[in-house]
Amino acid sequence: MGGQFIRDEVTTIESLSHHSIKIKTSNQNIKAKKLIISAGIFSKELVKNLGINVPLETERGYHLMLPQQQLLNRPVAFAQRRFIITPMQTGTRLAGTVEFAGTKTKPNWKRAENLFHHAKQVLNSPIESASDQKWMGFRPTLPDSLPIIDHCCVNPNILFAFGHQHLGLTQAGITADIISDLVHHKKTDIDISPFSVNRF
Ligand SMILES: Cc1cc2nc3c(=O)[nH]c(=O)nc-3n(C[C@H](O)[C@H](O)[C@H](O)COP(=O)(O)OP(=O)(O)OC[C@H]3O[C@@H](n4cnc5c(N)ncnc54)[C@H](O)[C@@H]3O)c2cc1C
Repeated sequence: MGGQFIRDEVTTIESLSHHSIKIKTSNQNIKAKKLIISAGIFSKELVKNLGINVPLETERGYHLMLPQQQLLNRPVAFAQRRFIITPMQTGTRLAGTVEFAGTKTKPNWKRAENLFHHAKQVLNSPIESASDQKWMGFRPTLPDSLPIIDHCCVNPNILFAFGHQHLGLTQAGITADIISDLVHHKKTDIDISPFSVNRF
């Protein structure tokens, strides 16, 4: 439909007028009529360009992959140990933990390794871990655990969609529907006032 996908790092955003937004990337300048900021935890710095401060913090989480498949036939969440075991096509994923350490601190891989010890306690079958199969991600979280899905107060053609904390994959489609309605000036299916950028 004539869209163009550009993979680049946005360094600054400037609202020139309601219909003109300047986006500087590491390689080029782009002029846009509309802009959606949905860069997870990194949205915090991007919206600062527009003079807006949001109390967004990262809840860092970890996972560790086990090479074995079919240890379980469905995902299981362990409330007391606060982690989840998920069977996947490439093995079995152990995921969980919350760490407040910002975006710049190096990952503490012991947190991923601890998941292995938890899994050993709850699974009947012997397990082995592939030590290179670890991952750390940034959950973008606001104090009330709700996302920001809103127009920017400085320029209504700039939209915000971030802060989905532990549920960004689950909620992505719903947020995309809402953002699509906002872009097309349509009434949203749900009341979005709880997700206002001005609530803090
Ligand atoms: C261990 C763990 C397990 C999880 N499990 C689940 C789960 O089971 N279910 C669930 O729903 N959610 C889960 N989550 C949460 C989910 O991963 C997040 O809520 C989701 O990734 C947030 O999506 P996002 O697109 O807002 O941000 P991100 O996924 O962080 O994506 C942001 C994107 O913006 C890009 N970006 C950042 N800065 C710039 C810039 N300056 N210029 C250009 N691009 C930029 C990044 O490269 C990235 O592609 C889990 C998270 C973790 C850590």
